[in-house]
Amino acid sequence: SAKKAGRGQYRFFDQSLNLKDVEEFHLEQSFAEALRNREFVLHYQPQVCLDSMEVIGYEALVRWHHPEFGLLFPDRFIPMAENSGFVIPLGMEVLRLACAQIAQWKVDNVPVRPVAVNVSPIQLAQQEFCRDVINMIHQHGLKTCHLELEITETAMLDAKAVESLHSLKAAGVKLSLDDFGTGYSGFAHLEAVPVDKLKIDRSLIAKICNSHDDSPIVSSTIILAKRMDLKVVAEGVETREQVVHLKVAGCDIAQGYHLSRPMPPEDVPGFLRTFAEAEAVV
Ligand code: C2E
Ligand code: MG
Ligand code: MG
Ligand code: MG
Repeated sequence: SAKKAGRGQYRFFDQSLNLKDVEEFHLEQSFAEALRNREFVLHYQPQVCLDSMEVIGYEALVRWHHPEFGLLFPDRFIPMAENSGFVIPLGMEVLRLACAQIAQWKVDNVPVRPVAVNVSPIQLAQQEFCRDVINMIHQHGLKTCHLELEITETAMLDAKAVESLHSLKAAGVKLSLDDFGTGYSGFAHLEAVPVDKLKIDRSLIAKICNSHDDSPIVSSTIILAKRMDLKVVAEGVETREQVVHLKVAGCDIAQGYHLSRPMPPEDVPGFLRTFAEAEAVV
């Protein structure tokens, strides 16, 4: 057996016939065709203002309707798309889908709220990124305030990306710092990059179990963010207790399964009707 043949051989066997690698190779091969066939779609997750309990925006999350593998979530293909550079055309497709959806909601008289799109540091490092985003917005007859971009801390380490962010901000596109509290999370970074919002990562929100201050990192982050004039979004809010805690701590906006799962765009109008009627979310 491979094991008997010795350590080296076993490792070789393990790597060469790894099913995950085979599948990844297959996925990577089908990216271009998937784009042509419009297999990528966006699901929208509402962001709720904790003061008014109204939906004040959405985060757009990409999914891949793969003809063979079914519905794929971004963790399965974004890292690969980043490694292969495919994240650049995919990112433009995501922006196009988001802009087209906002334009459609306008036509359908669905209340229009800003849509936040996730952006990879690789996209931001592109020379033309800012121009491409603004063109996309205008091509759909929208204003820059209709779109927000969610960036991660990694983007702040690249000079080209920081330049893009300054241009986007100057053009009126709002910026959110995603996954705050996971990486290096220095408030020092925040002084170099013009973000408007800070999204506290769900791993920190998950530590909130009751309405007492059992999560000093969350409450201190909220206080510091406010001192810097940033709006604070809590992500991954799954319980009523977390909503109460976050309200008390002064958090502005909540997003998570307790409020709504991400949904296909056709479900949004129906969601808005029932959400407005249900006073009992808190
Ligand atoms: P993210 O931007 O931090 O998005 C939040 C993730 O948490 C989403 O996972 C969302 O479905 C999930 N989530 C929301 N509420 C809850 C909750 O209450 N509990 C739990 N357990 N999870 C919740 P998703 O859609 O699988 O996306 C994963 C990541 O993939 C995103 O993390 C983002 O970094 C990336 N991503 C998604 N769409 C895009 C895109 O269009 N472009 C790029 N470059 N990255 C994307
Ligand atoms: Mg995000
Ligand atoms: Mg996030
Ligand atoms: Mg996250």
